[in-house]
Amino acid sequence: MSVSRRGFIKLLGAGTAALGLSKLGINLAPTQAYAAGLKIEGAKESISICPFCSCCCNVLVHAKDGKIINVEGDPDYPISGGGLCAKGAALKSLHISPERLTKPLYRAPGATKWVEKDWDWMMERIARRIKDQRDKDFVPKNAAGAEVNRLESVFHLGSSQVSNEEAAVLHQMIRAFGIVHFDHQARICHSPSVPALAECFGRGAMTNHYTDLANSDAVLIMGSNCAEHHPMTFKWILKAKEKGAYVMHVDPKFSRTSARSNLHVPIRSGTDIAMLGGMIKYILENKKYFAEFVLNYTNASFLVGERYSFKDGMFAGFDAAKGKYDKSAWAFEKDASGMVKRDKTLAHPRCVINVMRDHYSRYDLDTVSSVTGVSKADLLQVYEKFCETGKPDKAGAFVYALGWTQHSVGVQNIRMSGLIQQLLGNVGNAGGGIAALRGEPNVQGTTDHALLYGYLPGYHNTPTANLPALADYLKTYTPKSVDPMSVNWWQNRPKYIVSLLKSWYGEHATKENDFGYSWVPKMDPGEDYSHLYIFDRMYKDKIKGGLCFGHNPCQTVPNSHKVRKAWDKLDWLVIGEVFHNETTDNWRRPGVDPKKVKTEVFLLPSAYRAEKAGTVSNSGRWQMWHYKCAEPLGKSRNMGEMFVEIMNRVRDLYKKEGGTFPEPITKSDYPATFDAEAVARRVNGYFTRDVEVGGKLYKKGQLVPGFANLKDDGSTSSMCWVYCGGYTEEAGNLAKRRDLTQTPMQAKIHLYPKFSWVWPMDRRILYNRASVDLNGKPYNPEKAVIAWVDGKWVGDVPDGGQPPMAMKGGVYPFIMHTEGHAQLFGPGREDGPFPEHYEPAETPITKNPFGQMHNPVMKVIKSDMDQLAKNGDPRFPIVLTTYSLTEHWCSGSETRNGPALLEAEPQQYVEMSPQLAQEKGIKNGDVVIVESLRGKTEAVAMVTVRVKPFTIMGKTVHLVGMPFCFGWTKPKCGDTTNRVTVSIGDPNTSIPEYKACLVNVKKATKVTEL
Ligand code: SF4
Repeated sequence: MSVSRRGFIKLLGAGTAALGLSKLGINLAPTQAYAAGLKIEGAKESISICPFCSCCCNVLVHAKDGKIINVEGDPDYPISGGGLCAKGAALKSLHISPERLTKPLYRAPGATKWVEKDWDWMMERIARRIKDQRDKDFVPKNAAGAEVNRLESVFHLGSSQVSNEEAAVLHQMIRAFGIVHFDHQARICHSPSVPALAECFGRGAMTNHYTDLANSDAVLIMGSNCAEHHPMTFKWILKAKEKGAYVMHVDPKFSRTSARSNLHVPIRSGTDIAMLGGMIKYILENKKYFAEFVLNYTNASFLVGERYSFKDGMFAGFDAAKGKYDKSAWAFEKDASGMVKRDKTLAHPRCVINVMRDHYSRYDLDTVSSVTGVSKADLLQVYEKFCETGKPDKAGAFVYALGWTQHSVGVQNIRMSGLIQQLLGNVGNAGGGIAALRGEPNVQGTTDHALLYGYLPGYHNTPTANLPALADYLKTYTPKSVDPMSVNWWQNRPKYIVSLLKSWYGEHATKENDFGYSWVPKMDPGEDYSHLYIFDRMYKDKIKGGLCFGHNPCQTVPNSHKVRKAWDKLDWLVIGEVFHNETTDNWRRPGVDPKKVKTEVFLLPSAYRAEKAGTVSNSGRWQMWHYKCAEPLGKSRNMGEMFVEIMNRVRDLYKKEGGTFPEPITKSDYPATFDAEAVARRVNGYFTRDVEVGGKLYKKGQLVPGFANLKDDGSTSSMCWVYCGGYTEEAGNLAKRRDLTQTPMQAKIHLYPKFSWVWPMDRRILYNRASVDLNGKPYNPEKAVIAWVDGKWVGDVPDGGQPPMAMKGGVYPFIMHTEGHAQLFGPGREDGPFPEHYEPAETPITKNPFGQMHNPVMKVIKSDMDQLAKNGDPRFPIVLTTYSLTEHWCSGSETRNGPALLEAEPQQYVEMSPQLAQEKGIKNGDVVIVESLRGKTEAVAMVTVRVKPFTIMGKTVHLVGMPFCFGWTKPKCGDTTNRVTVSIGDPNTSIPEYKACLVNVKKATKVTEL
């Protein structure tokens, strides 16, 4: 018998079972001899998950005598097949690093060093700080006298690093305290994905999943360098390429992704909408669209109301005084019954498709080329190759990441891909869709659990002051449809909201008290409590203290000089971290006298991923369990334990002493200790009393089998409805599933339907009803996702179990949208129903040939430290774009502690073209100063042909690129790129415009250490 290495490891792990193999005649002698020489001999093997990118590679962790001795890729994880990139390969060194925080550290106001304290002392003082601040600053009513019950002077930032279970208890605690300045990394990496994708299709998540990319006939990668930053994604793109797919990379600079693509197209940063606007014009003029799909499944035939217009880059409804649009000007025309009027002949001039044609008729090749810097030949090549997928049996996928999101038009960049995919019929099918490559390790899951001020868990709007009662809230946010073919799934919102409130307040949530709705803090309508505003208010002394877990904002938030000064102004700060970083140690950064920094800092050492159990969700929504493989290093503890202890200590203080508005805390149904498995059950939800649903009796305390069983009468609880169904009485914790079996139909498209669990309801490809015709027949039978066979659906879990549209009881495929159709025309975003090209807030040109210069409703932060260069400012003529590296993750605060990673990518650098270098007298390897109106930073010049000058409207425009992962704590050379970036936000989500600002570069006159 031959035994593979993986098979051998399994034999080792099998223990006594392995003994039985010898009885079956299998000779174990060779493998036992091999074992003796293996470093993992006798080690315990457990499964964990890489804590970096959202590919969430599973890893096998071997621990011996309580110490991690080996980490390697898990060959059974379908996405990686056992592969790891450089960061994953460094996991062991990071877990056992001598740089790890292993003891609670305290920094007194004005102190010059940390001192060690025990957990009890720290927790007692933290609870006291929170309670005192809350009692002092709690705001029961806003300026208009409406009840708001909130705390504005304390913030919480982070953490996309935590598990779903940790996120659930964290969210519950933050709302109980009344904190509204509540945000995490999604804000600054992928916040536009949710409103953009939801506006198009109904949900804000990646439509398909990683392994599905192998099914594509064309892949258009824009705003992502996935070969380097989401390496396991690229593995599946290369599989598609091997089968004949045409892979295009549109990106400002040449990278490894470009090198392995069929075509690399350099583009000026911030002009993606212009390029894709040209593609829409090409599709419509050349009839490349999938006509049947467009007519039946999109809102192409809907009539736009007569108030709608568009002129010179501005949509109807702009209120100059408010700086906002009145979106009612973009409403559809409805008949007397409330049904949207349609013209299925598509002849009416106000049909969406015709309004759209008019809109993009201006995006001709000449204008697009002159704005983007892309040659007309390259534009046509991309248009032709991608639009070949507008056929029933073809599929094309868009792949994007921060290169699209981090702009003042971040949401509309993504919307653009949604429009094109609708026209080409690339939605719901295998190999189609939009791959939103999420950033942080669990940013998908922690967005689902809404560590963001504007949502409650499960994508419900946060209550606002103008909605004082639960009935007001539900009336506002529960849509009604008069169309019998529309599922209008959000009509179920009351069930999910009441179940959420029941999970938070337990027996204290009753019908009589609106299930505790008044205890949830209310925002002022339209107010922004996100990163940029948190730091601006902190800088203006309006915020006094805060909690920051697994986040490094003093490194990653733009305009770092201001951010760091704002951080100095805090009275107290609680931080949970794995390593020291620019945020933990801001009080002793270069150039600052610690004695003058008044902040009291509590630094709590956090367990690392392999030292704790729980689930994380990858970008494809696969919710996967990771096991505790070893004890936390030193005295570190997992963050879930920290949250639970902080909350319970604050609650004890309120019970003992009383205080301001204690009910949300004292009446909270909160766990006494943190147990990930128990919280996972709470997230799924319970029946709170014996109840009959659909003729079946469920007993009090039983797990709810799926969100279709949630109720609005208080008989069920669920901490996040989209995860309801992932933990059932019958099957247990489905996130632990490791079953790779699939039917031949499923195997053809790499569906892996039994591996882990996927929200919602284990559906692997969202909107899959759009992959079949009106009778349920797959448009592409070779790569069928679902099919209607003998009166039922087979394949993936259908997105709505009703029959196909043409059959009795049939429904539209986009069940989350009130009208049941994908939205080409999207009337719900802040900056227009169609994406329109606007120049970045800082631009090297002085005129936008499409009309309006900048996004008229972008968020502009104003302070004495927030200067903006004027259009075409000669002092700052160069466009700066920023990016990640394979070897470092996000701020680099973890990976800069990995010796091998730091050796591979040791210092801050700036990539520039040979032409720019020559113009500036800079040589490869010179130390240069990169400067903007906000400040300057040092970097080593990397002169490379990977970056080319652009010709923009007849003028040469240079672009430079810098990684955003380096900081002053280590290595000791250079500092963050964000010293020069701008505090400008997209109008929908306030994500900052990291990817395009204006700088200048010059050779440094002396080599310094910042
Ligand atoms: S960083 Fe991403 S691709 Fe690399 S090992 Fe981790 S999860 Fe996999």
